[in-house]
Amino acid sequence: MSSARDIIALLRAGDSPSPEDLTWFATGLADHQVSDAQAGAFAMAVCLKGLSAEGRVALTLGMRDSGQVIDWGVDRPVLDKHSTGGVGDCVSLVLAPALAACGAAVPMISGRGLGHTGGTLDKLEAIPGVTTQMPVGQIRAILKNTGCAIVGATADIAPADRRLYAVRDVTATVESLDLITASILSKKLAAGLQGLLLDVKVGSGAFMQDMTAARALAEALVSTANAAGCKTVALITDMNQPLAPALGNALEVVEAVRVLRGEARGPLLDVSAMLGGVLLAEGGLVEDAEAGVAAIDAVVRSGAAAEQFGRMVAAQGGPLGFLDQPQRFLPEANVIREIRAEGPGVVQSIDGTALGRAVVALGGGRAVESDQINPGVGLSDVARLGAVLKRGDLLGVVHATRPQDADRAEAALRAAMVIGAGGGDLPPLVHEKVG
Ligand code: URA
Repeated sequence: MSSARDIIALLRAGDSPSPEDLTWFATGLADHQVSDAQAGAFAMAVCLKGLSAEGRVALTLGMRDSGQVIDWGVDRPVLDKHSTGGVGDCVSLVLAPALAACGAAVPMISGRGLGHTGGTLDKLEAIPGVTTQMPVGQIRAILKNTGCAIVGATADIAPADRRLYAVRDVTATVESLDLITASILSKKLAAGLQGLLLDVKVGSGAFMQDMTAARALAEALVSTANAAGCKTVALITDMNQPLAPALGNALEVVEAVRVLRGEARGPLLDVSAMLGGVLLAEGGLVEDAEAGVAAIDAVVRSGAAAEQFGRMVAAQGGPLGFLDQPQRFLPEANVIREIRAEGPGVVQSIDGTALGRAVVALGGGRAVESDQINPGVGLSDVARLGAVLKRGDLLGVVHATRPQDADRAEAALRAAMVIGAGGGDLPPLVHEKVG
């Protein structure tokens, strides 16, 4: 017979509770047999002492099974990708429709902005009328009719995680590899996936700023997900500069649409294709990752991915014809200011976290949970790493509500970019594959 006190005492002593104990604890989080105090002590004990690999799998499965595990009832491979978060990272908006256009079903259960990083739900909701909160039955119908949906977790997806996450947030226990792994995967596995691709970001705009930390997270996620029965691979991708040259909700939608319509080729499309290529191969829709990259490229070039995006937006309540004239529908900021280089030089480094924070300060993210996002604000046309600038060339464009907000964002943009004589090697878009 398990008890929360015994499980916490075992963890405190550095011993591993049995898988049955951890399953019991996850169930107890969801049905409130475990108190907030016990949840906090558990989180701190795991944070300090860690779980065994077996324990991590058991906690993940227990949290997954604390709610509904969805069967979508579709005859296509059910695939999804999860990013650990970055800046200018609107891959999901490109990838979900592109994968669907290649024959996958993509129930992309996404999150909101976290810290300095943007959230896919906030970005999609920049489109007037779009809703991302809906019951499973409605998601299932959209998935059957259009092949993809980008939505928030419903109340009955991994309720144990919702409870534990709220406790972790206020007990300084978010930063645990075991707890992060169980939290991310419990929600993904509840979405009944046949293949999962993890995009672990590393660099100045990511939560993991060095390769050692990124590799540890990627390995923990991949080994746990595979042991839990979901075919999973991770790519460690670069976040030493914004992936798209825009940060901010509506501005990132514009970038994603430009990529989907074949109007912009560059890192956002390249990373989306590399991630999608691996995922299509995992789902058995193509021979290998290389063929998958070609398949993603083909649906972008043919316009099929763009059409798919338009159908998904309409199915989720957005305007018909959004894709033809996105700017007509998207909100615009009051103050639009071009920021220009004060002297010549090469862009040597970009502090992505600082740029992300500048966008939050403009109102593009939340400082506290109850904050309302302003979808029109942010930064666009941000100069790329390695760009050779003359005096007066564009460093970026600030989109703000008031002139004083633009002043602060301008100062943040200038401080975030190191411009000097000569540049080093540019980082690769993908550093490593794990799994
Ligand atoms: N995202 C999650 O869903 N959970 C974590 O613990 C961290 C990031």
